[in-house]
Amino acid sequence: MEIRNNSGSRQTAPYGDLQGNTDEDKKDVRQITVEEIRHKNLIVVLGAGESGVGAAILAQQQGFEVFVSDNAEIKPQYKAMLDENNIEFEEKKHTEEKILKANQVIKSPGIPDKAAIIIKLKENNIPIISEIEFAGRYTNAKMICITGSNGKTTTTMLTYHIMQSAGLNVGLAGNVGKSLALQVASEKHDYYVLELSSFQLDGMTEFKADIAILLNITPDHLDRYDYQFQNYIDSKFRIIQNQTEKDAFIFWNDDPVIQAELKKRKVQSTLYPFALNRNEKTKAFVENEQITIQLLNTIFSMNTEELALDGIHNTYNSMASGLAASILHVRKDAIRESLRNFTGVEHRLEYVATVRDVRFINDSKATNVNSCWYALQSMKTPVVLILGGTDKGNDYSEIEELVYQKVRALVFLGKDNSKLHEFFDRSGKQIVDVQSMHDAVTAAYELACQGDSVLLSPCCASFDLFENYEDRGRQFKGEVRFL
Ligand code: ADP
Repeated sequence: MEIRNNSGSRQTAPYGDLQGNTDEDKKDVRQITVEEIRHKNLIVVLGAGESGVGAAILAQQQGFEVFVSDNAEIKPQYKAMLDENNIEFEEKKHTEEKILKANQVIKSPGIPDKAAIIIKLKENNIPIISEIEFAGRYTNAKMICITGSNGKTTTTMLTYHIMQSAGLNVGLAGNVGKSLALQVASEKHDYYVLELSSFQLDGMTEFKADIAILLNITPDHLDRYDYQFQNYIDSKFRIIQNQTEKDAFIFWNDDPVIQAELKKRKVQSTLYPFALNRNEKTKAFVENEQITIQLLNTIFSMNTEELALDGIHNTYNSMASGLAASILHVRKDAIRESLRNFTGVEHRLEYVATVRDVRFINDSKATNVNSCWYALQSMKTPVVLILGGTDKGNDYSEIEELVYQKVRALVFLGKDNSKLHEFFDRSGKQIVDVQSMHDAVTAAYELACQGDSVLLSPCCASFDLFENYEDRGRQFKGEVRFL
């Protein structure tokens, strides 16, 4: 068995042989019971979703005893996978006495640290890791890891698209696609492109990214970080933990939070900053409307108009993906072609249709004010903006100016629109309140003039009226098609 150590090189697993017995354990064998030895080899997986089930299958393949526990109902497809692999599991409960016998626990990123079972595990000093940390121990593949408050999925899919189109044997994992653990157990890839949330990063200690991308940091998920922004920043910076100068760190150079943090830290990684404006440090920038990537022996450039994805934010995402591909020596024409023909990701500034000269854009994934700012910024026509939902403590002043400049009318789509009224009533814009997607699309269409765009970019989570942002986006597209 091989695992990665801190420096990313391989070493014998600290869990010993396939049964998990180290030499030290063997010395003690006469003093401890058979039952105790058995549990030295027990991995408990908490949460039986995509990552948990993948982790369970990989752990079993690696010779561990595995027990899966989920305090909610497990989806039928995951139950079937566990059954097929004869993996013991429970649902709608956590049986403490069994879980606390674990030698280590692989936790789903959705389970907060404040959950009772996690507190108990910590009290008992049982190591808790993430599925990515675990899976990373059993592969030599190169890891391209992407995090940030906004733009992760887009940049992950774009990077994957470039690498796959260039013929590299690459897998897609993390928050998107199949779990890394399942792919490590059943497929052999030379590279993985991983989308990593701060919750996943929190459970990673020995894992190392060969290429790390940090897109931006704005306050998000603070409820999981004791309302301390610094805790969230520290979590995001785990993306470069264990890196050496052989590894690449790609980041947005103009992000004040990233800059302040870099001043405090001794970073070992080789730095690849990107920004709109060139300076002596930037490795990717825009000059004369050309996106330019300048590495030691190579210069790549293409016109920003040719990029498949609109908006400054997507120029950043394209620079980050292009830098990663250039570091991996992907051919320039392959990078150019992929940046040009990428079809985008559903619910992210997704073009839906044009109805009597009104364009409809689905940006349902914009669940915070910052992403709506980028969406508005990229609009080239007057806009009817549909926004609203579950407010996460939003400060709308960030989009105020763009609303004054670009927005013709506002449609508030939410159970409780009072905060939106408090802020936008003074704007003098026409405002309509609705509580269903049907009414939102009908109202927006009526308010729009020929040549306008109707943009769904809600700034808010969707749970007041929809199952999730995907449901909200799909309903939007469905209603537009009915017009
Ligand atoms: P994430 O996976 O981090 O949530 P997505 O790629 O799904 O990011 O994009 C979410 C929203 O964030 C999109 O609606 C888009 O408007 C906005 N966005 C995308 N890239 C960026 C970026 N680099 N900076 C700021 N906002 C972005």
